[in-house]
Order: sequence, then structure tokens, then C-alpha cells
Amino acid sequence: AIEFDNVTKKFGDKVLFENFNLNIRKNEVVSIIGSSGSGKSTLLRILMTLENIDGGRVMVQGEPLWHRLHKGNWLPADERHLHRMRGKLGMVFQHFNLFPHMTVLRNITEAPMHVLGQSREDARAQAMELLRMVGLEDKAQAYPAELSGGQKQRVGIARALAMKPDILLLDEITSALDPELVDEVLEVIRKLAAEDAFTMILVTHEMYFAREISDRVCFFDAGKVLEEGPPERIFNTPEHERTRAFLNSFL
Ligand code: ATP
Ligand code: MG
Repeated sequence: AIEFDNVTKKFGDKVLFENFNLNIRKNEVVSIIGSSGSGKSTLLRILMTLENIDGGRVMVQGEPLWHRLHKGNWLPADERHLHRMRGKLGMVFQHFNLFPHMTVLRNITEAPMHVLGQSREDARAQAMELLRMVGLEDKAQAYPAELSGGQKQRVGIARALAMKPDILLLDEITSALDPELVDEVLEVIRKLAAEDAFTMILVTHEMYFAREISDRVCFFDAGKVLEEGPPERIFNTPEHERTRAFLNSFL
């Protein structure tokens, strides 16, 4: 479903990714682990087209993210192409970015109504169903400031799902939470992973969770996938010294 082919990404003259390759299958759940600055967020931001690339190709469901075919020629993606490609992906960020002046319900219905053109009734019915799924149907009329961090993050997940993405990107969605609120958020992700209806890429520092829900774990180091494999393999018998050192820092 997702392919990074020889991707280069620079910030100024600093190269982050060079000939970077990664393939992710449809409905695969992939956890990305690795130290700060290794490129985990940038990878997700490239998929969301929040960051450009300097070389190579990114394919999403068989189509290039940054290029479009026009009369037999590849041209840079235009807004229309990017808009269509973005519709395939949903992202939840570390810092809940809910609209503070809107109720929970409106936070969820806004994009489906204005971007997907859903009717108010349909958008509301869907939002209420998603709020039930994340256990917050009684908070529909609350404002974000009235919610705990864990509740805000669950609304963030509901809001991403309201756009019906095929691919869900989660960037350290529990790392700004108090420890006692982490489980209620992970429980929602656990349910979504079990549905096997999404391709999921999650950047996480919750090693036990990555181990439990992932089909595959990728260890990032300085813009490279240094090591990847099934969770049991990565966590039980890491091959690289750097992977071992990273995992040991969590013990
Ligand atoms: P963390 O675990 O701290 O979130 P990360 O693995 O998500 O780290 P990225 O945010 O992807 O790391 O950043 C990778 C590298 O790219 C870092 O060295 C960072 O400083 C650099 N970088 C990221 N965004 C920018 C930017 N907009 N301008 C300049 N450099 C950037
Ligand atoms: Mg990051």
C-alpha cells in the first residue's frame, strides 16, 4: 500500500534520508521506534505531504504522491492530486490539535462536511458512532478544554477516522499523556489494529505496545531503517548493537 523508493530528504544542506526504501503492505501494522532525530516524524510528515522530498518516489496505493501522469508525462503533483492523495491518509499528532473554540462533535464533523461534502445529519450520526467507539459519546457537547489529555487524544483519533482514511498515521500519540491516561488511548488503537481494516504506521515509545500489536517493527537510526522484522525477533534478538542499546534504555 505504501512504497518509499530511493527517497532523499534534506533540510538545508543536511541530508536526513538518502536512498531510503521502505514498503508497507495493505492492512499491515508497522511500529517505528528509534532515538530522537532519527527521522520518524519526518517519514509520517512526508506521507501527509506536510514535507516535500528531494529525490526518489513515494507511492501510495499504486500512485505517486508527488507526481501525476498527464498525457503520458509525469508532472509535479498539483493541488487537486495532493488533495486526493491526502484523502487516503489520516494522522494523529503527539499534541492534540483540536479546535479549542469548537465542541467535540463539531471538531469531528467539520472536515467530513466541508471536505467530503457530507450532510450535517450524516456527519453527526457518524461522529456519534465514532465517539461511542472511543467511549466518549457523553462528551459530544464538551469543549476540548473540558477534557483530559487521554480524552482529547481519543477525540483526535475519532476525528481522523471521520475522514475514512485507508491509512492511519500515529505520531507518539501517548507521549504527552500522564501515565494513567495512556492505556485508555492504546485500548482504542488496539481495537483498530484488530479490525484489520487499516494500514497503520505508529511511531511509539511504548515498547510493550509495539510488541503486542505490530506485524512489523522498524528501528530507525539516523535516517535509516537499521533493522526491521517481526516484533518477537526485534525485541528478543536484536542484531545491531545500536538496536540493543536503544532497547536497553527502556529497561
Ligand atoms: P523525535 O523522537 O524527537 O520526535 P524524530 O525521529 O521524529 O525525533 P524528526 O522530527 O523526523 O525526528 O527529525 C529528524 C531530523 O530532521 C532532526 O535532526 C531534525 O532536527 C531535522 N528536522 C526535522 N524537521 C526539520 C525542519 N523543519 N527544519 C530543519 N530540520 C528539521
Ligand atoms: Mg518525532
